[in-house]
Order: sequence, then C-alpha cells, then structure tokens
Amino acid sequence: MSRPNLVFIMSDDHAAHAISAYGSRINETPNLDRIAADGMRLDSAFCTNSICAPSRAAILTGTYNHVNGVTTLATPLDSELWTFPHALRDAGYRTGMIGKWHLGHGPGADPSGFDFWRVLPGQGHYHNPVMLQADGVVVERGGYVTDLITDDTIRFIDRAEGEPFAVFCHHKAPHRSWEPSREHFTMYDDVDIPEPDTFRDDLVGRAEVIQAVKMRMMDLDPITDLKAVVPDGLTLDEEIAWRYQRYIKDYLRVVASIDDNVGRLLDHLEATGLADNTIVVYTSDQGFFLGDHGWFDKRLMYEESLTMPLLIQHPGTIEPGSTSDDIVINVDFAPTLLDLMGVDPGDLDQPMQGRSFAPILRGDGADDWPTSMYYRYWMHRDGSHQCPAHYGVRTRTHKLICYYNDPLDQPGAAGPADPIEWELFDLVADPLEVDNIIDHPDSAAVRDELIAELQRLQAEVDDTPFPGALDALSTAPGE
Ligand code: CA
Repeated sequence: MSRPNLVFIMSDDHAAHAISAYGSRINETPNLDRIAADGMRLDSAFCTNSICAPSRAAILTGTYNHVNGVTTLATPLDSELWTFPHALRDAGYRTGMIGKWHLGHGPGADPSGFDFWRVLPGQGHYHNPVMLQADGVVVERGGYVTDLITDDTIRFIDRAEGEPFAVFCHHKAPHRSWEPSREHFTMYDDVDIPEPDTFRDDLVGRAEVIQAVKMRMMDLDPITDLKAVVPDGLTLDEEIAWRYQRYIKDYLRVVASIDDNVGRLLDHLEATGLADNTIVVYTSDQGFFLGDHGWFDKRLMYEESLTMPLLIQHPGTIEPGSTSDDIVINVDFAPTLLDLMGVDPGDLDQPMQGRSFAPILRGDGADDWPTSMYYRYWMHRDGSHQCPAHYGVRTRTHKLICYYNDPLDQPGAAGPADPIEWELFDLVADPLEVDNIIDHPDSAAVRDELIAELQRLQAEVDDTPFPGALDALSTAPGE
C-alpha cells in the first residue's frame, strides 16, 4: 500500500470530558466517536503546557517550550524553526494548514513547511471570518468558521488528486467566546446540563495562588461570554448555577458543530475511497475546565486542563475500538506521525525530544515506555486569569506541582512574584484532586519520590529548576 495520508484535526480548548467516547456526562459526539470506534482512544494524553500557542509549538516541533521558545501566548513560533510538516513535505507529501494557527503572522512568523496555508488572524471570528494566505492574500467570505475550515480542508484533499497529502484542519472552536452556528443556536434550550462533581469546590487546602485564580463562573462576562443580562433577584448560588448553564450550553453547541463537520470530513474520505489509507487524528491543543472546581478555562496542571483528547484511526494499523492508558504527551506527536507515515525520526537531523508511540498504536506495546511526564506553565498571573507560573510531574498514580510563582520576565506574563507553594495529589484515592496532601505526614515518602522524579525529568528535558523551590516545603526532602 502507498504511504498513508494524514488528516490532523485539532480543535481549540475541547476537553475530553465533552466527548461521548470519553464518557461525557453532558453531550453526545457521534462523529468523534466514529474515530474511537474505528481506531484507538488514548486515555492519558497530556499537554506539557496547557495554553494555545505553546501546545501548538510543542506538537509541530516535537520539543518542549523552553527549547522551541514558545513559552507564552506572546512568543511567536520562529518560521525558520523546523517542524514536522517540513519533513513530510521533504518526503514528497503535499502539506496544508487550514484554520487556527495562532503562532504569529508576518515576516518571520507566517506558517512554514506548507504547500498551502489559509489561517485565521490571531483568534479569528466565529461568523464571517477573514482568513489569511501567503503573499498577503486576504480571503473574505460569509459563513460559520467551523464549516468554512472543513470546506477548505475537503477542497485541499480533492486538489491533491491522488498524491500523498498531510492536511492540518485546525478549528477555532470551541474557544471562548463560544458563539454557536445558526443550526445549533437553540440546542439544549429545554434541558439543564448536569453540574460537575467539583462544581462547588471551595478550594480549601489548595495553594493560595490557586484559590486566587480568576476563572470562576462569576469571572465570566455576562455580555461577551454569556450573551445575556443577569436576571434580577438571584441569590449568589442561583447566579452561579445560571452562569454555568449559559456558559456550558454555548460551549456544547459549538462542539456540536465540530462533531457535525468531523462527520462530513469522515464521510468525504469514505466516499472518495481515501479512508483506507488515511490516518485521521482528532485532538485539541489542551483540555478545559467545564465548571470543574468551579472554573472555566485551562492553564493549570489539574486533570481537566492537562488532558488532551486523542483519537486516532488508521485502518490496517490500529485495531478498531482499542484504547491505551500509556502516558503520551504533545511533544510525542511529531515523531509518532512521522513514524506512521514512513519517515524515520532517527534519520532526521532534528533535535526532537518526544518519542514515537507508534508501537502503542500498532498494539505492539512499548517496553520501557515513560510512566511520568513533565509540565510547565510560564505566564505568572497574566492579565485576566491570574493563573500562577508552575511546573510539576504527573505519574500514573500521583501529581506533584510546584507553584514557583515568578514571572521570570516572560513576555505576556505580569504581576509580582508570590511565595512558592506546593501541591500533591493521590490520583488513585482522590481522582478529583480536592485533597492536597503535600503536608500530610504519611505523604513524605511519596513526596520525596516525586521530587526526585521531577528533578530527573527536568534534567532529562534540559529545563531549569526554580532556585530555592525546595526550601518552601515544610520539611526538607528526606527528613
Ligand atoms: Ca487552546
């Protein structure tokens, strides 16, 4: 069989727990579920920095953000930098990038490595979005952004005319401010969406900087986010519940359009006979809080934000309906897809830090596969969200987070340094992460193991620990 094509579909801020294949309690996504049914659902796919531009840079380069330079929203991807679409193009693939880019524009920052690109400027608009192409071409059309990005993706596939192709279909949705299409405008009008278990989390016992995060329902803007005026006469509890319904329904309506359009794309691949020799990936640049812990948004290392949905089908290679809970990270995507597409990452003179999880997809398993991952978010208390700068380690059973709380003069970050704080969660006993056991006497041994693992990972990926971070623990490691 000839080399497989790639359709890489990535949405923006789509949490795995809003996909029915992942057991969503709040919506149905029959078309995304088709990819899970025909391929593999990965249950422990994590981003290494839960924010748009940095995760996209990690996916494209196969490196962590301190290596590729895209640590924040304000740091563009240098278009001189190698990305894996460059390698695919060099290998004879026709490459295309359509939709949300969000890694900068103009000389030195336009998308590179693509035979064709048509992208939204910055965040772009949901309705009648302007899109940009090479050579300063500006495309103006009426329509809904998710439909148009899918139309353009299908057109790109058709124009490949049998040549091997790799197309990146990057949806804007369901990014804030969650503006539904006409078709989904009244969906969910007559139902109440269930609140998550941790919706009323009081955050007691968590780090002080976590308690100060501005991502609560009351931090949503009534007009731009909720598209309504708050009704008179509500108690605070009632208003929080009302805000959640307004927020989550628009989020799910926007997701419904993604699901419809993924179905349209899958149907097209099947109707044209391309499906049998095409890898289809569905993922999101990171997860999202859907009222979990009372929050919207992402950025933090908690599970709902850290977890990326990752569904991959490739007939003949990936067993239909299979699942894996091996820990894979966005830095692994580039070497994995190159591997599946016949480009040996080991033959490239490129410093990718990720590893190919193609053996896991093929069902061969992977001996000595990592059982932990490293995370770092850099934008300390940036403008509206006030999320702290932090790094940490997640293993299969625990999570250790150090809020080092310093902007380190990172572009896009602001605010003063705050005292260093730590959190530790036992993900087996406390999967909802509501019990911070960092100071619990019984946790000392596991805490010290995780500190050692964090230090090992930082050395392995060549990142720099924050000076004095360990001094902030109530007892020194090993005491
Ligand atoms: Ca995002």
